[in-house]
Amino acid sequence: MEPLVDSYGRRIKSMRISVTDKCNFRCTYCMPAEGLPWLKKAEILSYEEIEHIARVAVSIGIEQIRLTGGEPLVRRDVPELVRLLRSIEGLHSLSVTTNGILLKHQARALAEAGLTRINVSLDSLLREKFAKVTRRDQLEHVLAGLEELEHHPSIHPIKINAVAMRGFSEEEVLDFAKLSRNKAYSVRWIEFMPLDADQAWRKEDILTGAEIKQIIETEYGPLVPIISKDPAETARRYTFTDGRGEVGFINPVSEPFCASCDRIRLTADGQLRTCLFATEETDLRAILRSDANDEALANTIRQAVWHKELKHYIGDKRFKRANRSMSMIGG
Ligand code: SAM
Repeated sequence: MEPLVDSYGRRIKSMRISVTDKCNFRCTYCMPAEGLPWLKKAEILSYEEIEHIARVAVSIGIEQIRLTGGEPLVRRDVPELVRLLRSIEGLHSLSVTTNGILLKHQARALAEAGLTRINVSLDSLLREKFAKVTRRDQLEHVLAGLEELEHHPSIHPIKINAVAMRGFSEEEVLDFAKLSRNKAYSVRWIEFMPLDADQAWRKEDILTGAEIKQIIETEYGPLVPIISKDPAETARRYTFTDGRGEVGFINPVSEPFCASCDRIRLTADGQLRTCLFATEETDLRAILRSDANDEALANTIRQAVWHKELKHYIGDKRFKRANRSMSMIGG
């Protein structure tokens, strides 16, 4: 079988699937306080439709799937979707990205359904700051969700993703470093990207991975790089000199990794996006809901992948904002 490749020779292996555009947070860098006009139920792919697209995508070369949103766990019975996807032959990795608020009650069902990897987004360990950035005073629920995960060791690794924002994150860099050393969490800092629905992003708000690394190294000494086996890995990962703890830096703005990008995205309404910053989408839902067969679906995915964007152009005159916010695309 021909590999799934784009016209620049990148092999595409990973698909992020948004299961809903709704979210129970209103993070200032993502969604407006009043929310967004939500998709109608009929527009959203059913679990069977998601499984169908996933199965065809895996049959032509996708190996990893990550469920995201919006907040994926607000959609009813996500463990059922996990169970459906787990049974796809050829799928090597299935994970979920969540804000963690519903994990206390869902971690067990997710583990039992066969989920083995998870990313929890957490931008502050301080109650007031957490409430400010998410516009929800619910830090304790996220921490309870993380604690619950510790009872389900089959879900491993547990990655904590924090968006790095200048004037907001610096004072907590060492606390997050400590968290990664005291718990079995891999903490990853991600640079703030121009994907906020409010369009408030300014270049000056970016706190780069290099700056955060410097703060950590001032306290702990030089970090030790962890060599990744996966060339498409987005994070540059490090451990500490004593080997305890792990921090990673996802630097899409200061050190773009488009050249090794192996990702595509499926929105909750069935649109295939070949770049986070794509301005065009391919309507897989229309194909699925027509009487076209799997071969037609597979060919459409191949065609879309072939035309995958070269890079995102953030910081360049050619940069164009994406036509949807991160919550609509599926981060
Ligand atoms: N609700 C889930 C969560 O919180 O992880 C999944 C969806 S959320 C859109 C996925 C990730 O995108 C989160 O880690 C979030 O912090 C990140 N994100 C959203 N907007 C962003 C932006 N403008 N820049 C960088 N990361 C962003």
